[in-house]
Amino acid sequence: MPKLSNRVARLNEDGSDGWEVFYRARAMVRDGQQVTELTIGEHDITTDPTILEAMHRAARAGHTGYASVPGTDALRETIADRVQARTGVPTTRENVLVTPGGQAALFAAHMAACTPGDAALFVDPYYATYPGTIRAASAHPVAIRTRAERGFLPDPAEVHRLAADFRATSLLVNTPNNPTGAVYPRLTLEALASVVQARDMWLLSDEVYDTQVWQGSHLSPRALPGMARRTLVIGSLSKSHAMTGSRIGWLVGPEDAIGSLIDLATCTTYGVPGYIQDAAVFALSQGESAEQAVAEPFHRRRQIILDALEKQDIVGVIPSQGAMYLMLDIRKTGLSGRDFAERLLDQHRIAVMPGESFGRSAAGHIRVALTVEDDRLWEAVHTLCDFAKGLADA
Ligand code: PMP
Repeated sequence: MPKLSNRVARLNEDGSDGWEVFYRARAMVRDGQQVTELTIGEHDITTDPTILEAMHRAARAGHTGYASVPGTDALRETIADRVQARTGVPTTRENVLVTPGGQAALFAAHMAACTPGDAALFVDPYYATYPGTIRAASAHPVAIRTRAERGFLPDPAEVHRLAADFRATSLLVNTPNNPTGAVYPRLTLEALASVVQARDMWLLSDEVYDTQVWQGSHLSPRALPGMARRTLVIGSLSKSHAMTGSRIGWLVGPEDAIGSLIDLATCTTYGVPGYIQDAAVFALSQGESAEQAVAEPFHRRRQIILDALEKQDIVGVIPSQGAMYLMLDIRKTGLSGRDFAERLLDQHRIAVMPGESFGRSAAGHIRVALTVEDDRLWEAVHTLCDFAKGLADA
């Protein structure tokens, strides 16, 4: 075969380190073994039947042809209204591009912000696709290291230094954060906004977990003074409405940027199925209580883990305020996150993600997804703590 382009051949330069645990757990389940899977961010419920009925109705009514590439007027307006209501920032449908999921919005955002070869900053630990997405846009990923002791929040002075050293054109932040659960405080976001303003950069704000905030409140940095003109917000119905498989999300930003990204969408996705967009309008019109109903189990289960951890002092927890995960510190066991996760899977059939899967900053940690029923989670976390204690005592 002829040589593959560097662009695709090098997408996963960081390797697959740490994802083996996830793949191995999946293989064990396929072999009929009972595994408690606390790995990826997938709800243990399916999309609400009323949303599926709306999808069905739309398809049966004939909305099965090519849909408008930027998104239907109805969905763009619904998203604009939602964003304006939640942030106070004037937003119209011209500020909205509908995308096949938040992932496509992340890609579009980097395509808009980075000319090939430009440096793009992102915060480590990070959602697994970030560096590859940046490379897919022919940009150069630059990780901003953070520390567990500081709640995995980026240090604005360090961000400024890296932005200047690499002449970065974009900074990607994610709050509430996957994998750490951090909800960035206003002061942090204001300081980061100052950096991107001083360096004339884009701020790319991944807000796909904005309905999962357990403490404090979500602040969209697009709402900070002067930021609407340099912020692209990534949104999605995957997490808020348990619609991961429907691939429906959006990008919100300045009208001109959205205009250019509509051209990009014409040459890449050619839009999102109309019946899925109609279902999304329906889902968003169900209001906040429907979103809270989807989020509530994660809030409850988070407390189950926090209560269990209170009773011991080997496994630490990183203070977190949102999202469907908890990051646990297992450094007292003397194992890496990866070795801990491998052994926990082998010995107890419990699958968690090694912190190392999310970058170097989360080494010695594991991420637990709050995605199994309460009883099973309770049992798993107690087993995990006993296992950790056994290792620490050995
Ligand atoms: N951003 C973050 C931080 C995520 O965790 C995810 C999915 N796990 C996405 C974006 C992409 O979500 P989707 O494409 O399903 O909307």
